[in-house]
Amino acid sequence: MAAQAVVCPQCGSNDQIRKVSSLVAEGVSRIETTSRGFGATSTYESDGTTGTGYTSTTTMGYGTSQSDLSKLLTAPEKPSETAPEVSGLLFGTFVFGLMAMFAFAAESGAALTAGVLLGAISAGLFYLGYSRTKRQQKENQTQLPVRLAEWERAMRRWRELYYCRRDHGVFEPAEGRFVPIGEMADYLQQ
Ligand SMILES: [Zn+2]
Repeated sequence: MAAQAVVCPQCGSNDQIRKVSSLVAEGVSRIETTSRGFGATSTYESDGTTGTGYTSTTTMGYGTSQSDLSKLLTAPEKPSETAPEVSGLLFGTFVFGLMAMFAFAAESGAALTAGVLLGAISAGLFYLGYSRTKRQQKENQTQLPVRLAEWERAMRRWRELYYCRRDHGVFEPAEGRFVPIGEMADYLQQ
């Protein structure tokens, strides 16, 4: 075996370590259990003697359930496009446009003035909504590749991570720095 054995930088052992990616892939229900049991049995013999037997079992462990652990160790989420938030503006445009149409249909002088005003407001709202959508599209085009590149880098690091059950933290063997589980997300972004 030419490869150097992977050990936890915190405790210096390898008996409690697992690859983070395989732990998460398994996603098993629990890592260890804590249970206590106590039982009593009574016996009644045919000659009249009675007996009582007691059994006690205690299994103690460190009770982090693996589903929680998988959640804590889960890979960084892939960034996606920001959905345009213009539905409210578009609805406003629609309502004002409709009111303007009714005002024009009424054909009286006052209604016509109101119709022109509402039409102008509707055009303004449409312009706002349109430019905002454009801006968001542009942001998606420029920001998303950056965020995706950061995510891919974080994923490459995540795939190398090991988890030590004894110290409840992760480490990258090549780097040898121990990271408490709560700081994993920040660590992956570095
Ligand atoms: Zn350790």
